Amino acid sequence: MAEWGSASFVEEQFRRYYKASVGKVEPPLEMERREFGFLPFDGGMMIRHTSFSDPSQLRSFILEKAPAHIYYSSAYYREPRADMESKGWIGADLVFDIDADHMETPCRMNHDAWRCNLCGFEGKGRAPERCPRCSGTDLEEETWVCDTCLDKAKGEAQKLLDILIQDFGIPLEYLKVNFTGNRGYHVHITAPWIRGLDQRARREIVDYVTGTGMRVELLGFRPSAKGSSPLHGLGWMGRASKALYDYLANLPPRILEEVRTGRRERVRSLIDSREEILRVLTEGPPSGILKYLSRESLNWIMEKAVREQAAAVDTVVTTDIHRLIRLPNTLNGKTGWIAQPVPVEELEDYDPLSSSIAFKGGEVSIYVRRAPMFRLCGEKYGPFKEELTNLPLAAAIFLLCRKAARIER
Ligand SMILES: [Zn+2]
Ligand SMILES: [Zn+2]
Repeated sequence: MAEWGSASFVEEQFRRYYKASVGKVEPPLEMERREFGFLPFDGGMMIRHTSFSDPSQLRSFILEKAPAHIYYSSAYYREPRADMESKGWIGADLVFDIDADHMETPCRMNHDAWRCNLCGFEGKGRAPERCPRCSGTDLEEETWVCDTCLDKAKGEAQKLLDILIQDFGIPLEYLKVNFTGNRGYHVHITAPWIRGLDQRARREIVDYVTGTGMRVELLGFRPSAKGSSPLHGLGWMGRASKALYDYLANLPPRILEEVRTGRRERVRSLIDSREEILRVLTEGPPSGILKYLSRESLNWIMEKAVREQAAAVDTVVTTDIHRLIRLPNTLNGKTGWIAQPVPVEELEDYDPLSSSIAFKGGEVSIYVRRAPMFRLCGEKYGPFKEELTNLPLAAAIFLLCRKAARIER
């Protein structure tokens, strides 16, 4: 019986794709200073510490190996082929990773599942830490991605871009957005002046975009703060004020829940003074708000508002100055989709589940172990459970890459 995922079939299809499209693979800036890494289909170790001096060398390598995953270093090295200690780090692009896997989306209950390897107990959604039946910790998780997950990830990327453009003033020519070919987006800043930032500086930037450690006095809500509407304030002052305005104007039901769960005073003053606070936010001065809310209450409510506006980026990726990142216009071996550059101005209308589909035409007969319903190029497939089915190549490759199916011949 063929193995789940039928890796050699998928590898052949990847090779066929690259034969036609390897010209689209875009080497990074200053490619000769980058380390490249490749994961093969046979499940073997990553091929690392490779480098290429020109695009044609890289492309012939890809054609020859047809790897499942292709990465390059965000860093620039004097000797990219040397081992880590002797590479000679020169600098690194600033990279943000946005991954739906790190976000709580309600759709997880529809498409994710887990199973206890000890007693066989199963459940929907994210795996708990321990099996509720046998307390075992060997749980197998099966995660999928859907339009809701991808829209959420796109929204986070848009918030991040807004902060990078508005607050950091990063010119568009240095901003690159790539769909990762799976659950999210990478945002790269390639500006020369950003390359030398150390890990601490990168950490500061992450704290800023995630709104970590935000205090209202730092935003400018001090007793002495004069001036006009905080809604027009620069940076987080304006962004947080707008979030607070929206938040108060449409008080979410969970605030009313807080009334029941003990934070009565704080919530009552918020609800009683809502109109006045909205007026101060529109007319200023920022200090006016402290007449209606204590600094503590303001911090409490502002934290909730900031959370709405902050961009959910993965801290580890941005602060790692040696990170290997997926190369644009290559295939993601977990889906068979293209890791694809998206122009910033087209992000809003970008539909990854149509644009990034690499394989067209052909029907393949596969046996599917289990899969929730999914959509590709406007067509819906599944759900499937232990059944033989004929699918268009793109849908079959997706299920094979997820190891949820195998080829039946
Ligand atoms: Zn169990
Ligand atoms: Zn989802």
